[in-house]
Amino acid sequence: MAYGIILSPIKWRLVGKVAVITGAATGIGQATARLFVAHGAKVVIADVKDDAGQTLVNELGTDCSKYIHCDVSKESHVAAAVNLAVHSFGKLDILYNNAGIVGSLSPFEALPVDEFQKVLDVNLLGTVIGIKHAAKAMIPAKQGVIISTASIGGSIPGIAAAYSISKSGVIATTYSASAQLTKHGIRVNCISPGLVATPLSLSHFRNLNPDLSEEQFEKMVDLENFSNIAGARSTPEVIAKAALFLASDDSSYISGHNLVVDGGYLTNRSFSF
Ligand code: NAD
Repeated sequence: MAYGIILSPIKWRLVGKVAVITGAATGIGQATARLFVAHGAKVVIADVKDDAGQTLVNELGTDCSKYIHCDVSKESHVAAAVNLAVHSFGKLDILYNNAGIVGSLSPFEALPVDEFQKVLDVNLLGTVIGIKHAAKAMIPAKQGVIISTASIGGSIPGIAAAYSISKSGVIATTYSASAQLTKHGIRVNCISPGLVATPLSLSHFRNLNPDLSEEQFEKMVDLENFSNIAGARSTPEVIAKAALFLASDDSSYISGHNLVVDGGYLTNRSFSF
């Protein structure tokens, strides 16, 4: 007896779309690249971790993904990433500004200015440069979607001041860019994840406790988030699903929005007075 292939009822949401994802070699960006390709998109992976980026392209397939070395704080690199999308895949529909670093944990009175500048250059200036070059490519087409990864650290005080300041800037940039670009048919939104287990957050907590094992860290992420939403955990894939929603026509009337994806963390915090 022959068995036919059972097709999945999943609706592909990005068929024919072309995306650039920065910081896609690991973590949230990597999970998003996988999900976008699974939904029919072609993606340019733009990162500074060349080996990990190239490994991801080998996994996804060179017909639907390309890697480019791209430091988002350098305008010529970002312009080259957008050009690669246009020349390889014919256009740019989606930019996901996701690259980020945590940087200095120094208190204000000891904050090294060059370290502060570096965090702003990657997290904030990198986002602004990305929006500039995506807008140039998208305005003639009168359509496009821009997403950026902010953080709940941009809305509440964090111990890494430079990081929080840069992420507040990403949220403000989202509002400004949406105000300017929706008239061109371009939607601009950001995502504010809570704590997610990725190389970035692991290295941040290892700076505070060098003996922290990966297993202890994963448990800590669950505890830190103190969310009891049944069956839900904070993973890169959960954030990737939010990016998919904002990238697809499912969110066609949403622009200028900061989508908080934190299992309720922000609203679970209560004041003690
Ligand atoms: P990650 O370290 O796995 O990913 C960050 C990626 O950005 C890496 O691949 C890294 O190589 C790349 N990158 C760093 N500097 C770059 C530069 N100058 N140019 C290009 N690429 C660069 O960590 P992640 O947690 O997946 O981080 C993704 C985004 O999510 C970041 O913007 C981060 O601030 C944000 N975020 C993370 C968390 C968390 O708890 N992990 C929470 C809120 C927001």
